[in-house]
Amino acid sequence: MKKKELLNFTKEELQGFMKAHGEPSYRASQIFRWVYQKGILDFSQMTDLGKNLRAKLRELLTISPFEVKKLLSSQDGTLKFLFSLPHGDEIESVVMFYGNRITICVSSQVGCPVGCRFCATGMSGFRRNLFTYEIVGQILFAQNYIGKKITNIVFMGMGEPLLNYDNVIKAIHIINDKEGYNIGQRRMTLSTIGIVEGIKQLAKEKIRPNLAFSIHAPSDEIRDKIVPINKKYPLSKIIPALIEYRKITHRKITLEYVIIKGINDTIQDARILRDIARKLRAKVNVIPLNPVPGLDFLPPEEETIERFARIVSERVEVSIRKSKGREIQAACGQLRAEYKLKEKVYQ
Ligand code: SAH
Ligand code: SF4
Repeated sequence: MKKKELLNFTKEELQGFMKAHGEPSYRASQIFRWVYQKGILDFSQMTDLGKNLRAKLRELLTISPFEVKKLLSSQDGTLKFLFSLPHGDEIESVVMFYGNRITICVSSQVGCPVGCRFCATGMSGFRRNLFTYEIVGQILFAQNYIGKKITNIVFMGMGEPLLNYDNVIKAIHIINDKEGYNIGQRRMTLSTIGIVEGIKQLAKEKIRPNLAFSIHAPSDEIRDKIVPINKKYPLSKIIPALIEYRKITHRKITLEYVIIKGINDTIQDARILRDIARKLRAKVNVIPLNPVPGLDFLPPEEETIERFARIVSERVEVSIRKSKGREIQAACGQLRAEYKLKEKVYQ
């Protein structure tokens, strides 16, 4: 029989699995604590489980290791991992250090089907969704590697998390579980390009991460040029879904705005964005574009970015994101596991 990946199980699922194999369900809690809180991957080291049970678990379950294929570190301490997944494909995860806070930016897909024109991941094509164990494993293997506990999670790596909805939600449950990583929902942020059904579904979940919407343009006309999926999910559909999300959840939304020279950086753009943000009572995060080799877009001049942020800030909370890990291309939108996808970029 093929062994099952342990990291695919929520605790409730593992309790069911234990029962089905004649074990009390509290075994699931014990195993969770070993794996997620102590970083132990080997059943033989789980000493509060009987010897027979440990042998049985080895037959049934596995935690296939990720290989760190490449690790880059930047001057500010940011680490970029290129992981080889146990059953093929490569993904990137980024770990950032801010005082006591250690944040990991996880990938949710191999590549991304959305294809935003300014995004390295999007322009490198799409291979597949990640399984839950591949999402949860990024945290486990990064944490074991650095030897410190990760405190915050952002779903801002490769891929569109709401296009891999079920696996991402399961991962969120494992991350949040008191006996899992025990990371509160307010210390997780999910960033989406605006998948309307996904936003609606997320509003009804028991555990909800903070929501960031990658708006990037004040109008459909501009957004159509840089975010191809805007044809399917235009602002006129996304914005009502976000208003509804706010009503149901009472959680503040962040609007992410990648500012690009000559595309979305005028005074008029800033004013319209400000009005949208007010309507949503959202805060705005202006992200100067990170130029991606091979793509034509550039960030605006510093003064233009500041002028833009100043106009938005007249009525709305706004910040300009300072990229971490710039020189190792670990910043937003620069993640691209080059090994297999590269050919597609320059086709
Ligand atoms: N697919 C999701 C999450 C991953 S992208 C989304 O798009 O929201 C995470 C963030 O990086 C998004 O806000 C995205 O727009 C931004 N980003 C993509 N390419 C970028 C680039 N070249 N420079 C700066 N930010 C970029
Ligand atoms: Fe995908 Fe997000 Fe990149 Fe767009 S910005 S291509 S949605 S990862």
